[in-house]
Amino acid sequence: MSQTLIIHGTVVSPGNPDFVIEDGAVCVDGTTIAEVGTTADLLPRYPGAAVVNAAGRVVMPGMVNGHMHLYSTFACGLAGEPAINFPEILKKLWWKLDRALSLEDVYYSAMVPYYRAIISGTTTVIDHHASPWAVKGSLRTLANAATAAGVRSSFCYEVSDRDGEESLEAGLAENAEFAGEVNGQGNMLRGMFGLHASMTVSQPTLERAVTMAKEVGAGIHVHAAEDISDQEDSLSKYGKRVVQRYHDAGALGPKTILAHCIHVDAAERTLLQESGTFVAHNPESNMNNAVGAADILGMLAQGIRVGLGTDGMTSNMIEEARYAMLLQRQVKADPTIAFGEAVDILVRNNAAFASEQFGTKLGTLEKGAAADLIIVEHYPFTPISAANWYGHFLFGVHPSRVTHTMCNGRFLMAEGKVLTISPEIVAAAARKLSPLTWQRFTEIN
Ligand SMILES: [Zn+2]
Repeated sequence: MSQTLIIHGTVVSPGNPDFVIEDGAVCVDGTTIAEVGTTADLLPRYPGAAVVNAAGRVVMPGMVNGHMHLYSTFACGLAGEPAINFPEILKKLWWKLDRALSLEDVYYSAMVPYYRAIISGTTTVIDHHASPWAVKGSLRTLANAATAAGVRSSFCYEVSDRDGEESLEAGLAENAEFAGEVNGQGNMLRGMFGLHASMTVSQPTLERAVTMAKEVGAGIHVHAAEDISDQEDSLSKYGKRVVQRYHDAGALGPKTILAHCIHVDAAERTLLQESGTFVAHNPESNMNNAVGAADILGMLAQGIRVGLGTDGMTSNMIEEARYAMLLQRQVKADPTIAFGEAVDILVRNNAAFASEQFGTKLGTLEKGAAADLIIVEHYPFTPISAANWYGHFLFGVHPSRVTHTMCNGRFLMAEGKVLTISPEIVAAAARKLSPLTWQRFTEIN
């Protein structure tokens, strides 16, 4: 296997006991990391390796997006009707856009954010997909985009009763078929079992989905209590709160992602903690939709596994982590909080969840870990150590350009040039498709 040796970097790895290695080096052998150490130590020992000079820049693990909607791309610039609350945002924008998507739209809607993921150092995407009039083959279409981009990805179809029986049946089948096809095969693609949200999933659908997910060994990926209306709906229809409903149906557990969990009470939090369920926090989206802020600090203190997603708002996890910190400080009116947690939910918790799902060690630079890494144009201008890493992440890595992105040992970007996606070609194709998508959007009631 070919070897690549990255030298003269400020090597940062939250999973490595040394944590920060100045004038550090990383040797990649095939798809994994062979060794991490100092440049002086490694350079003479790998004479045949291709050398990349990081020249003092930060070398760190690639990042994981814990909740994404690649399909949302064509909403950029789309003029919809005004929506005054979250249910209206769903009805007037998202549930019309997703119905307007063709499989070709799905492909190019994915390639645009994959390009952005690569240029911002995101090497794993856990996606939650909807295209209710083009369900069959949609997850395979996304997988083809992921493979072309070179980004490690997990997909599911968000099953719901909102688009009629035919679409519902197609969604259930799509999840089962895709998860059955990819799970356990290599470590670049995975399938989860998607559901939209409690308010659009009937009790029979929820129960069928849980049974089918267990049959293929896939975790559930679903929205939960994003807006207070989701709780009101569950209480009125089922006499119980959303997380309780999921729990009673057998949907919770360490493989399950609940996105948002903003309006959850103490009893629901206990269920999340006891079941080991993963909560994906999406601060930018929550602010955009004005739906409130999840108490992620309280959840973390309680031992709940909290991670970070973008909900389609961005592909940039470094940006999202900074929003996570700022939102907590703003809502709690406390400038002392969330500094470490905002970074840890990304670099530690997302990586731990994704490592379990993909069956390979992510989020660390150490021998045997997957070679998912980035080089960031942050030349540390103040001392850097494990003790002040959060500060360097939020105020050094944050505004800096990512110059190299590697996933599974393959450079997806080198010296600022993306190698797997041509943004011009992808944008031209999307530019041709999107007016037609928008036309269908306007024709949908
Ligand atoms: Zn979402």
